Amino acid sequence: MGGQAEQALELTAEEIQRYSRHLCLAGVGEEGQRRIRSARALVVGVGGLGSPIALYLAAAGVGVLGLADPDAVELSNLQRQTAHDTRSLGVPKVESAARRIGDLNPGVRVEAMAVELGPHNAAQLVAGYDVVIDALDSLRDRFILSDACVAAGKPMVHGAVQGWMGEAMTYVPGRGPCYRCVFGGGAAAGDAESGTGVGACAGPAQTSEDLGPLAPERVGVLSSAPGVIGAIEATEVLKLITGAGEPLVGRLLLWDGMRMKFDQIEVMADPVCRACGGFGAGGRGSYHGDVDDACCD
Ligand SMILES: [Zn+2]
Repeated sequence: MGGQAEQALELTAEEIQRYSRHLCLAGVGEEGQRRIRSARALVVGVGGLGSPIALYLAAAGVGVLGLADPDAVELSNLQRQTAHDTRSLGVPKVESAARRIGDLNPGVRVEAMAVELGPHNAAQLVAGYDVVIDALDSLRDRFILSDACVAAGKPMVHGAVQGWMGEAMTYVPGRGPCYRCVFGGGAAAGDAESGTGVGACAGPAQTSEDLGPLAPERVGVLSSAPGVIGAIEATEVLKLITGAGEPLVGRLLLWDGMRMKFDQIEVMADPVCRACGGFGAGGRGSYHGDVDDACCD
């Protein structure tokens, strides 16, 4: 990922100090750190999930961080959206987060875009980046972002939280199912930084019928839940950039904070997926049945 010329540049004395715990870390090292520095990552949504993702990627030294979010900071965000603070009330989230990132690591170039993701701009948004991070709070937007990533051949790291639960999965073109393969037939379950299998398992008190369109403010989410899943998403991004480890491809990771349990289920490409066409891997996963067992028992 990133430009080869940039990658070839030696680390500066300051970078060697700042990233010393990366430089001695298996899977990163100097080569990995140069890859991180030359990487361009796009965080779509700078709320509960986007906050830890953006901050960890900035701390790690990702060279260019795109931030896309149309909203301004509200008081009810601060219970979980840790990139913002009380001084930022009313300020666009991308500006608030950019300010925090600037304080944390001035070596990171932030591309702040106070825009709402839509079918009209998704392709343009993802075009300039090596890896795209889903930190959205709506099912509809996740499909739009995922489809744009599939079309552009970009990897996408997905995460969602609701209540005390969360989930994560990584899409790498040609290597595993896309978001639509797994959630494609998905009911329009509402969505508070969620709207996925997690939302579908929220139980009778939180169905879309009970709450109507689930406004984020009306669905509870534990303060630390986006921290757990956001850190996992950031980890996936750093693995994709450095090439270390095994990404969550073809595996949906499920986290239950109440029981403090992680589970994972195998998910397969959908041969009739209208986004990726199943990339020839064949066989639809038994996601829906499995996830119900995994998180609604
Ligand atoms: Zn697909």
